Parts: sequence; structure tokens; C-alpha cells
Amino acid sequence: MTDTLPIYPENRFFPVENGQLLIGEIPLSRLAQRVGQTPFYAYDRQAIGRCIRRLRLAMPAELKIYYAIKANPMPAVVQHMATLTDGFDLASAGEMKLALDTGMPAGQMSFAGPGKRPQELSQAIAAGVTLNAESLRELDMIAGQCEILGLNANVALRINPDFELKAAGMKMGGGAKPFGIDEEMIPAALQKLYSLGLRFQGFHIYGGSQNLKAEAIIEAQQKSLDLAVRMAEYCAQPIPRLNIGGGLGVPYFSGDMAVDIDQVGDALAFAMANASKHLPGTEVVIELGRYLVSEAGVYVTRILDKKHSRGQVFLVTDGGLNHHLAATGNLGQVIRKNYPLAIGNRMDGKIMETVNIVGPLCTPLDVLADRASLPEAEPGDLVVVYQSGAYGYSASPAAFLSQPAAVEVLV
Ligand SMILES: *Cc1c(COP(=O)(O)O)cnc(C)c1O
Repeated sequence: MTDTLPIYPENRFFPVENGQLLIGEIPLSRLAQRVGQTPFYAYDRQAIGRCIRRLRLAMPAELKIYYAIKANPMPAVVQHMATLTDGFDLASAGEMKLALDTGMPAGQMSFAGPGKRPQELSQAIAAGVTLNAESLRELDMIAGQCEILGLNANVALRINPDFELKAAGMKMGGGAKPFGIDEEMIPAALQKLYSLGLRFQGFHIYGGSQNLKAEAIIEAQQKSLDLAVRMAEYCAQPIPRLNIGGGLGVPYFSGDMAVDIDQVGDALAFAMANASKHLPGTEVVIELGRYLVSEAGVYVTRILDKKHSRGQVFLVTDGGLNHHLAATGNLGQVIRKNYPLAIGNRMDGKIMETVNIVGPLCTPLDVLADRASLPEAEPGDLVVVYQSGAYGYSASPAAFLSQPAAVEVLV
């Protein structure tokens, strides 16, 4: 395996052999036999590794890369990520369990998210995980749990900055937000943290998600470093760690261009070198979910029926919205667009056909492809949805219409 991203002419994701897509070097039909059922998700461990090695080459060497588990919480994936990343970003006690089970040191984990339960705070304090406090009240709750446990807590302050990540698919900073403590209130929050005797671990600034524009990411990273430099004046000691968020997006739709990570990395190296004069000893972290795992995953579903209706062709598959809400355009998308797709056992198919691909659910929302041009396919063939390694199964309503569950494999 080389460290450069391979370019396959047939598709931009996986190699092809004898008309079969190879996932983890296994022909897709063989993989389906091995899994024993469709639908399934398959994640390619080599592809995840390549993506992360490539990212590290682009980023400043001293930058730490954390994996945001919510993107793909499959235990085997999280275990694999423990060997490839520097830490984990957690958003629930459930994710904390997954993370701790890997053996990753608790000191390299941060737990963010609004509405942490007292029990979750207590567990995180006992584990030694850093809590990213999202409100002043949460600081009091943390101190309360510390008293009950007879332990102290590692606490960072999540800042809701007065800027946003421009052109982000999902904005999570700027304006009025449920996430983080407004920038103006940070001096008071620091005072509170110190007076409660909690152990200050630094700041967390997360502007948004799914961004493909290098300029926008660079601007947000620069502003995050500037903000930390300003806040350093209110800190009684050097800032141990600064989490500048992530937001690197992946190209889901035709016309989307991959983020220029070399451009982002160069700008970040420059910005970090400047900021380091004011932030002595501060460890800088980015936290990424989808960027690390999306491209390495596929969702595979079998065609059950092929029908014609008033001039259009419909391929009906054995899974859809119930397993892959995002691919049907129902996970917060404004406009439904087709995810990249293939007929994974007919990669050499020469005769193309325009088809609609629909799942088995009795709802018009269950659409995987709207008039896609794909090689001619028949019942029994395998539809592949690319870019499915993140926000796939765990972000889908698996109980909807009481269909069978999907299986997930890491190959
Ligand atoms: C969701 C989330 C992430 C991961 O977002 P991606 O778009 O998957 O990279 C990172 N950090 C926080 C705080 C999040 O809420």
C-alpha cells in the first residue's frame, strides 16, 4: 500500500477487478457472501489509514488529530482509530465507554455537548476525561459531582465565538447557539472555574461542519487562534490545550471538490507559528469525524425488483432510508441530491440506464437515486452507496417500518 491516495479511473474510491468493486481487497460479491446478508456497511481499514496519513503529511507535525466518534461509533472502527489518531472527541457517556475500551488514555479525550447528565459528568470525572463545559451552570454541576466523588475534574471551556465557519454545511458557532459559552462571558467563566478549584485544561472552539472551502476553514482557524490569544490574558496559567474544531468536509455530490488540505495545512502552520509566541506550551488539536472515515465506507444493498412506471425505471432494494438516512437526503439536507453510487458487481457494465433506486419502505422519502445513470442492473445485483463511512447507520432510524437490521463490517 502506498501513502498517496490512489486514483481509480472507474470511480474515485476503490479499485475494480473483473467487474467487481474491491473493498478491503475483497470482491464485493464475495464480501456479500462472507457477510451473509444484505444490506450491510463495509469500512475499509486501509482506506481509513491512507486518509489519515495523507492528512498528517499536509498538517503541521505538532498538530494533534482527534477523532469525533459520533461520525462512526462502530466498536471495531473506534478501536482502529485508536491506533491512527491522537485522541477522541466524545459526545455521550456511551461514546466514552467505546473510547475507553480501546485503551486510548483518558487524558487524550474530551467530552463536549450540551445537556450532559449528572451521571455522565460523574463518569467522565472518574475516568479522567476532559469535560468541555458548555455553560456556566454546567461548571457548577461539575463542581457538585466532584464534591460527591471526592475527585477533581479536568475542564476546558467551549467558546461560542462571535464568528462562524463560513460556507459550512452545519454551523455550530456564532450568533445565539446551544453550544458553548458566548465569547463575551468567557472571562467570567474562567473566574468561576478557578474559584470552584477545577483543573483548567484549555479552550474548545467549534465553528461548524462539512466545509469544502479551504479559505473558509483557514479563516476560522486563524480566528480561533486569535481568540485564544485574546483569552490567554484572562488565564491564570498557560493554556494547556486548544481545540480549534475541524469542519473539513467530504465531497458527496457531483461538482463538489475535495478540500485542499495542503493549502489548509500550510496556512495553519503559519498561524500556529505566530500564535505560539503568545501561547507557550499550548497543544493545538483539531477534531474530525467525517473527513477521516466517510470515504472508506460503503453501504451495500441488493436489488429485489426492477419495475417500469410511466417511462421510468425503478430498482427496488432491500434497504434504504432505514439504514442510510443521509443518502436519501433526509438528514438535514435542504435539497435532495444523489450520493455517488455504483452497481458494485457490474463495474465494467457498458450499457447505461437511467434509473431511480428506491428502498423497501412504504414512503416516498425512501429514495437512494433520482434518475441516476448507471450500468444496466437486474434483481440480485448489488447497489453501492459511496461516502458512507460517516453518519450512516448510527444516524439512521433503523426501527422505522420494522425492517431487518444492517450488518457493519470493518475489512
Ligand atoms: C459533530 C462534531 C464533530 C465532527 O464533525 P464532522 O463534520 O464529522 O467532522 C467534531 N466536533 C464536535 C464538537 C462535533 O459536535
